[in-house]
Amino acid sequence: MSRFEDRVAIVTGAAQGIGAAIARRLAGEGAAVAVLDLTAERAQDTVDQIAKDGGRAVAVGADVSKSTDVQAAVAAVAGQYGHIDILVNNAGITRDNLLFKMTDEDWDTVIAVNLRSAFLMSRECQKHFVAQKYGKIVSLSSRSALGNRGQANYSASKAAIMGLTATLAIELGPFGINVNAVAPGFIATDMTDATARRVGFDPAAFREAAAQATPVRRVGTPEDIAAAVAFLAADESSFISGQTLHVNGGADR
Ligand code: NAP
Repeated sequence: MSRFEDRVAIVTGAAQGIGAAIARRLAGEGAAVAVLDLTAERAQDTVDQIAKDGGRAVAVGADVSKSTDVQAAVAAVAGQYGHIDILVNNAGITRDNLLFKMTDEDWDTVIAVNLRSAFLMSRECQKHFVAQKYGKIVSLSSRSALGNRGQANYSASKAAIMGLTATLAIELGPFGINVNAVAPGFIATDMTDATARRVGFDPAAFREAAAQATPVRRVGTPEDIAAAVAFLAADESSFISGQTLHVNGGADR
């Protein structure tokens, strides 16, 4: 029996990268997946891949930093499938700059997309989870939560995800809801390629340098993160809550 048979999952920021891999993984194990991204058009590629592999998915457009978008998106998914069981708060952005050059907008946008979104999505989905006495929330933190030059906004948002996770686990645990986070290290995606270009590196050389600095001598893949998220979204891990699982090839910072 598949781990997510009869489950409905929402994965935010799932048009590409880690979110797309999570959506494919959950769908591959039986879940119906709402592939949420800024527009339904952007999310359609992931939906098509899932359908090609025999899975079930629907594209949903929403800016997860906006309360009205979040309410409409969650209502649409509940209307389509009748219930929601798993929420993966994956959408995230970077606007890197050293503190003295970081603008108000750099700060506010990153906090809104990376942190406010997790608050809004979790608050909206918990209505369904509490009513059915079942739910799983997995949010994406980052190794950068421990500090990373040029990422005051991003680092603060990802550290806050850990606190949000620990607190929601306490509040929602009595209702059969598990809340956890995954903190990836260097994962090869468009996000890390963009960081490479920003600091003047060729993306391939940047990945190689990151691999050499990682104990297991490779960078991570979106599928590495999808495997950890699937574990935390599954019933076999139902005694784990409030935790942040570091998935970074053994890197200490
Ligand atoms: P990515 O390739 O940039 O994908 C992020 C996705 O989120 C994109 O499809 C993006 O859409 C979407 N998105 C951005 N703003 C949104 C919004 N307001 N509403 C809805 N969707 C939005 O990033 P990734 O590397 O896969 O990262 C996924 C998550 O893992 C993020 O939370 C990131 O912080 C975290 N993470 C990544 C790494 C890494 O090494 N890659 C490490 C640690 C943590 P557009 O492309 O249209 O903007």
